[in-house]
Amino acid sequence: MSVLSAFLLNTALYSVFPLYLTTVKPKSRATAFYIYISVVLVLGSLLGSIYSFKLTDNIIISGGSIAFGAFMMSITMLLIIERNASILINIMKLVLLVNTLTYLSFILYSWLFDSSLVMNHLNISINIFQTSLSVLIIGGGLIFVELLLLLFLFIQLRKFVFNISFLSIIYTCAFILILCLDGLLFPLFAIEYNENFGHTLMNNVTGKFILALSYSFPMLIFYWVFKRHLVRFIKSPIQLQSLLPAPRKKLLEELQRYEMQDQKLRRKNLELLQQSTHDSMTSLANRRKFDHSLNIEWKRCERSKKPLTLVIGDIDFFKQFNDHYGHQKGDDCIKAIADLWGKCFTRPADLAARIGGEEFAMILPETMAAQCVDELTLFIEKLKAKNIPHAKSLVANHVSLSIGIASTIPNSNSSANSLLELADINLYQAKQQGRNRIISTNN
Ligand code: GH3
Ligand code: MG
Ligand code: MG
Repeated sequence: MSVLSAFLLNTALYSVFPLYLTTVKPKSRATAFYIYISVVLVLGSLLGSIYSFKLTDNIIISGGSIAFGAFMMSITMLLIIERNASILINIMKLVLLVNTLTYLSFILYSWLFDSSLVMNHLNISINIFQTSLSVLIIGGGLIFVELLLLLFLFIQLRKFVFNISFLSIIYTCAFILILCLDGLLFPLFAIEYNENFGHTLMNNVTGKFILALSYSFPMLIFYWVFKRHLVRFIKSPIQLQSLLPAPRKKLLEELQRYEMQDQKLRRKNLELLQQSTHDSMTSLANRRKFDHSLNIEWKRCERSKKPLTLVIGDIDFFKQFNDHYGHQKGDDCIKAIADLWGKCFTRPADLAARIGGEEFAMILPETMAAQCVDELTLFIEKLKAKNIPHAKSLVANHVSLSIGIASTIPNSNSSANSLLELADINLYQAKQQGRNRIISTNN
């Protein structure tokens, strides 16, 4: 087997796992990737000084570099799948954690192997554990910068390339570019300058280029097989701004904006509730609310075995009023009566409603008919005192109301409707007996 084939076999081995991990269920996918990335990181630190592939006289790719390539490839896949800036933060935390662990354990192993405290069965060279803190820090910093740059390129490129297959190739080229950049930057920051520095740089970049090329195949497979991830990424990519801490003032403004929206929404809801339960002309409860409350109060009084009283009032000769004074005056009259009607009974459970054009109702829980007649007689007096002229009424020279009252102790043998019918019958009686009066019965 040639050296190149062995090298490709090594990169293929590193590629199979992230490709498989992309098929893991979304719930545990990111965690699976984090674990794989951590393993690759540790392997990278360990293998860097253990073996290298000598592809040509000048181009040598270490086991550490191969692991680094796998690391960058896996993160790229994860970022495209998850489309979340927090992945980048988590990766950096992971790098910090794993590098700290590696650094401290390598120091410990160096010391232990150097001492006679442990047995070195395989005669492993202590050089394996030689590691430099500055190299680890520079490496970590570069990873962050390179990933940011890669993401930035991805986000920008999608604005210009719309063909998904072509974009896959462009994204792969961007990935190659970033790895070559690492080949350039890492020696610049981490290796001391010497007379062969130019050659070292050149060889390092070429090595990273070959490495990136070999990882391009799994990257392309990823883009083509999991096209839907790429399509989603293009439609709504990661928001890089979310990585920046939002200024306090901006956050406060945002919060205030949400609060105002919330208040507006609550007001709107209240308004809607009011509209759905109240009559817009008189602000009394509407028919809907009346029916609902009647059923509730019926059941409540049935449980507590308390009386329930229902009152229905109807304006006398109102058709004639409208015909004579006009519809607008008719509306004003309804409003004036509603105002008085609403003030008749004011206990929390009492409900005054407008249940039809010129018809009003009252639900009076825990009240007997006899207990409300006085109050309603007073209402008739007050309406008389208001003296809304009604030239066409046959019973008075002012607007008047006929009222029917029905009262019962609710039980399962009767219904709220029967009480309503009874009140209606009494109202009819009041009309029959000359209007402008109250007819009441206890059931
Ligand atoms: P009665 O004494 O027997 O109740 O006679 P009435 O004329 O009051 O009864 P009728 O049912 O014949 O007429 C009711 C009138 O009420 C008909 C309609 O023009 C009027 N009306 C109903 N709703 C409204 C309203 O919202 N505004 C106005 N202005 N008039 C209304
Ligand atoms: Mg009527
Ligand atoms: Mg009427």
